[in-house]
Amino acid sequence: MRKYEDTYRHKGLRKKLIDALRVKGITDEQVLAAMNTIPRHYFLDSALDEIAYEDRAFPITAGQTISQPYTVAYQTQLLQVKPNDKVLEIGTGSVYQAAVLAEIGARVYTIERQKQLYENTKQFFFRSKYPNLKFFYGDGYEGLPTYAPFDKVIITAAAPFIPPKLVEQLKPGGIMVLPLDEGSLQRMLRLTKQADATVVEEEFDKFSFVPMLSGRKE
Ligand code: SAH
Repeated sequence: MRKYEDTYRHKGLRKKLIDALRVKGITDEQVLAAMNTIPRHYFLDSALDEIAYEDRAFPITAGQTISQPYTVAYQTQLLQVKPNDKVLEIGTGSVYQAAVLAEIGARVYTIERQKQLYENTKQFFFRSKYPNLKFFYGDGYEGLPTYAPFDKVIITAAAPFIPPKLVEQLKPGGIMVLPLDEGSLQRMLRLTKQADATVVEEEFDKFSFVPMLSGRKE
């Protein structure tokens, strides 16, 4: 059985990570507070315990990654999350990004296409702490029509194009943040859906994500 412990050392390292995120330009205090609260080392293999607070991505199960803290902070800041916002996340992975959204007080619906990763969420340490976080096994390109519309959509894998169904499932005035393009680097985009259903597009820095693939994987 894995032992979960959030020691003073972990807390100290986490505080330093938050300071580093500030230096890199993250200014949204609710994002920084959420990331200062959540023990990131709980989301990684216990062998990575000591280095969980370095600002870098790490491998998780099934050839996937937990995004770099800076990337999580950057995307969450762009999303302008408000408590009680209904947020759809594509790519549950380690659940870290979803937990940051839930900690801010959003109602989070997160989809993962890999069965194994979805199954892992059943043992998620903070399940009872975040009743506002719901897990789904499915293809993110389809979104969740049953629960639509959403105030916000966040894609945490590299999308080769803007998934039309996700734009459809966004409320008027809603925001979607996604890393766009194939290849090794993606442009971070923020789309704001207008009252007439057209979208206004803003472009930000470049990042590197694992690809958004279609279909579910057993
Ligand atoms: N948000 C995650 C990042 C995980 S990496 C975290 O904080 O750890 C991206 C994840 O997206 C991977 O787990 C991958 O399996 C998943 N993914 C890729 N394409 C997908 C799709 N079409 N639908 C749902 N999940 C997808």
